[in-house]
Amino acid sequence: CGVVGIWNAQDAAALAALGLHALQHRGQEAAGIVTLAERGQFHSHKGRGLVGDNFGDAKVMAALPGRAAIAHNRYATTGESALRNVQPLYADFEFGGLAVAHNGNLVNAFQLKRALVRRGCLFQSTTDSEVFVHLIAISLYSTVLDRLIDALKQVQGAYSLVTLHEGALIGARDPLGVRPLVLGRLGGPESNSWVMASETCALDIVGAEFVRDIEPGEVVIADEKGLRSIRPFGKQPSRFCIFEYIYFARPDSVIEGTSVYNTRKRIGEELARESGVPADVVVPVPDSGVPAAMGYATEAGIPFELGIIRNHYVGRTFIEPTDQIRHLGVKLKHSANRTMIEGRRVILVDDSIVRGTTSKKIVEMVRQAGATEVHMRIAAPPTTHPCFYGIDTPDRDKLLAANNNIEEMARFIGADSLAFISLDGLYRALGHEGRDKRSPGYCDACFTGDYAIPLADLQEAPERA
Ligand code: 5GP
Ligand code: SF4
Ligand code: MG
Repeated sequence: CGVVGIWNAQDAAALAALGLHALQHRGQEAAGIVTLAERGQFHSHKGRGLVGDNFGDAKVMAALPGRAAIAHNRYATTGESALRNVQPLYADFEFGGLAVAHNGNLVNAFQLKRALVRRGCLFQSTTDSEVFVHLIAISLYSTVLDRLIDALKQVQGAYSLVTLHEGALIGARDPLGVRPLVLGRLGGPESNSWVMASETCALDIVGAEFVRDIEPGEVVIADEKGLRSIRPFGKQPSRFCIFEYIYFARPDSVIEGTSVYNTRKRIGEELARESGVPADVVVPVPDSGVPAAMGYATEAGIPFELGIIRNHYVGRTFIEPTDQIRHLGVKLKHSANRTMIEGRRVILVDDSIVRGTTSKKIVEMVRQAGATEVHMRIAAPPTTHPCFYGIDTPDRDKLLAANNNIEEMARFIGADSLAFISLDGLYRALGHEGRDKRSPGYCDACFTGDYAIPLADLQEAPERA
């Protein structure tokens, strides 16, 4: 999911909508904006589908007045796709209204929810994010901030949050900083106008200046007095999601001072060094494979060509809800550019293999277009484990790499050869010497099974995953 928060700016809703639009890649299922107008009045609009479909209308925007807003793009990892699950979530408390937008996934939501329901809390949605609302509601602390921190201390999992109440915009990241969240400023270095967003590309679109990443375990409060920061958790080594660099984040975003685009190119370079193969052309699987393919081609000294053309009028294949549609989606999305492929030995570069359906279809398509050899190179290690921290990977039994070795995978996708970047190569691309087992510095559980946040619900009842 993508989140945006705006504090103290004219047309906050329009800025939030623009930010959401820049974060559209983080979720396409639904979008919502809650604004705070004068005298503590909240306004809300949510809908299924894209940001542009829901917030392109002047009447809708006019009904969202105020100088503060939070917003959310939904990418379902928990709960069905019903409208009641669309964020921001909003509730009225004894202290007034509070809106919450959450990116990530909690790993003890089931246990918390069970306890909350026993205490009489009535859940309105089926998302894990609603536990934040109830934990805040029943907290015995007197200020909203203390109640929020009280809630954060009870949840386990990955979260980047923005919340809005009458007095403040509050952003928070989980202690390991699994999901991203950045801070920006509008209107110059003296202003008290703030933007919080999942990625820097959302700051760029609204003309906000990047201030810094919100740190793992940090709670940042923007109110009329200015900006301040609290660290309710002791300092821990962070575990930012390495897959954000590989695939999820937008290439023009900068995370922890590192350009996503450059990282992807360096992954491609590493991949070429690790598993080069003689060929005539390097072809990316667009769009996600493009920067890695560029890096690969440069390092290998093989021409880079757009041998597959992407139709931009279909959403990301992976995020479509059913397997059947996902299947169909791949054909709708890519076609071979025969001129660049016929009679050539082709290296295909993609960011990751999950189920293997994309790769299988693309390899077949490239062969049909006359390639003499097809070599698949993947800018991620084999995805052997599901993500429980906010990326929607399927169950383990559907992950191609969980059930097959490289040779079997190559046979399944129909490639002459298949290679993945090594874990150490991936860490080298991020500027490290390799993966430090004791302190990797990133979450890489989907490639290693090293789940840094214990999977509380799963340990209690494995079938719940
Ligand atoms: P597959 O067809 O192997 O199941 O999926 C791999 C393709 O899905 C890659 O091209 C990758 O860019 C894309 N993809 C889209 N969303 C996701 C996601 O959330 N996780 C992963 N691992 N891949 C995704
Ligand atoms: Fe990211 Fe993978 Fe960790 Fe999930 S398991 S947070 S996708 S690195
Ligand atoms: Mg892709």
